[in-house]
Amino acid sequence: MASKPLTVLLVEDNPLYMRLIQRLLGRSEHPTFDVVTVETLAAALERLAKGGVDVVLLDLMLPDSMALDTFFRVRAQSAETPIIIQSSLDDVSLASRAVEGGAQDYLLKDRINSVSLLRSIHYAVERAHARGAEWHSAMFHLAQQQLLKAAYIAELDDNIRQRLLFPERAQIAALPFKRDKGDQVETVFAYRVQHVLSMGPTKGGIRYHPDVGLGEVAALAMLMTWKCALTNLPYGGAKGGVRVDPAALSQGELERLTRRYTSEFIGIIGPDKDVPAPDMGTDGQVMAWIMDTYSQHVGYAVPSVVTGKPIVLGGSLGRNEATGRGLVYLIEHACRSMDVNLNGGTAVVQGFGNVGAHTATFLAESGAKVVGVSDVGTALYNPQGLPIDKLQDYVREHRLLADCPFGEAITNRELLELDCDVLAPCALQNQITAENAGRLNCRILAEGANGPTTLEADEILKERGVFLLPDILANAGGVVVSYFEWVQGLQNLMWPLEEINERMRNILTDAMTRTQRRAEADKLDMRTAAMIEALNRVGAAHQLRGLFP
Ligand code: NAD
Repeated sequence: MASKPLTVLLVEDNPLYMRLIQRLLGRSEHPTFDVVTVETLAAALERLAKGGVDVVLLDLMLPDSMALDTFFRVRAQSAETPIIIQSSLDDVSLASRAVEGGAQDYLLKDRINSVSLLRSIHYAVERAHARGAEWHSAMFHLAQQQLLKAAYIAELDDNIRQRLLFPERAQIAALPFKRDKGDQVETVFAYRVQHVLSMGPTKGGIRYHPDVGLGEVAALAMLMTWKCALTNLPYGGAKGGVRVDPAALSQGELERLTRRYTSEFIGIIGPDKDVPAPDMGTDGQVMAWIMDTYSQHVGYAVPSVVTGKPIVLGGSLGRNEATGRGLVYLIEHACRSMDVNLNGGTAVVQGFGNVGAHTATFLAESGAKVVGVSDVGTALYNPQGLPIDKLQDYVREHRLLADCPFGEAITNRELLELDCDVLAPCALQNQITAENAGRLNCRILAEGANGPTTLEADEILKERGVFLLPDILANAGGVVVSYFEWVQGLQNLMWPLEEINERMRNILTDAMTRTQRRAEADKLDMRTAAMIEALNRVGAAHQLRGLFP
């Protein structure tokens, strides 16, 4: 922390609490604080306008402003200054909504002491710095908000909560690879992030996409931690990415890029360290190149360094379609518990890549009419049900759904709002927001993609009674079968497909049953219940291992 005094703006109209904070901060020797106190919002805005405030301690109930309005006006005045809400026990839900809206943390006035106050300020200031540039990502912000919410409800140990807000290890490489033309060398940014190293090796896909950044990869690594913990897999979460558009590269360029990626991160990946898999923009061929590069490096074949490999290289039966298959197992489970008949019901799938196309296929096999599907440029609607196998053939030939003759073209926005029993977003993050959540017309929202729904949208969907299959549960089939692939690879086993699917169904059904039980018992939404199931496992592992040294 900086050695110069930190300027704290304390916005508080209760003189007793004001004196308490001044006393607690006044005792600190490292860091030291300049505490500026004001009692009204108007005075706070005036002081912030002058600049130089490092952190704001904000009471939301002031003589001239109440509740969230106070927070939003302070934030609007100085968007970069971290804000810590000072809350009484009665106002906790208000404070947590301010955190969802971007406040760094909140402190309970009744429980405040010098340790909790100094820690909160320290982390708020550090995080505000870290949020800049590379870390800045709506998805990372969402992942942190989801963690803060669940950690509060689960009363997670504060030491562990702070530890989990950022990944344990994050590596960035500026990665050069040769283009096909002439002697042109392209340099792109590449990432590997390992969120939790305490549960076993880390596990997570590699994403090739032009918008990838450290924050997005960190968010995805965090989601992997919860996914593995929720399904009781012996892994922590990781993720990798390259900021590149794979569609603009030839096969040769993709191969050179992938091999260079592998060699840049070779020190931190490996069957016992960190095991990559495919994600958006990568596939079995990319995994095969990673496996080969790693194997060349160590001098013998190491299939277990990646999962999602082609079968002939030690890939598992059922891995390619596992995420979609697992999603549909869970949709079937949800339909049974809600008395919805999937056979003859309707479904809409956003995204027609690995997850989306398999989800649409298995939904159709379950007897559902898939009335809408989309990809990056096209959305198709057919109230009689789209012929999914013909769409698959079309995409195999043309790569995209553009000009596909089997349905009426609609917009992506219209697609999400179609009347249906099941809506499965299987493309990108941040698709269902406060802006469109009120117009969704589905009974079940099944998150095949990672992070498709914002926290604000969650609240709206909850009020509207939409049943949520949250991402960390809904798309966990992929990592579960990746785990099977890893186990088979380490032991040179080959399980039949039926056994793989049955084992996956059991693991997912168990995770869903535990999540539903917790949601009902503690009156929680499914996302928070799933997060708490996962957090309890990660928290227990941290406690048991203790802190080295
Ligand atoms: P993919 O690259 O195979 O397919 C992505 C699909 O989304 C493509 O059809 C693409 O055209 C479409 N798309 C892109 N932008 C879109 C937009 N703006 N609107 C509509 N469609 C759009 O990727 P994938 O492996 O299917 O992954 C999709 C999502 O599922 C990602 O969030 C990923 O993190 C998540 N996920 C994947 C796996 C897996 O096993 N592949 C496992 C768990 C979660």
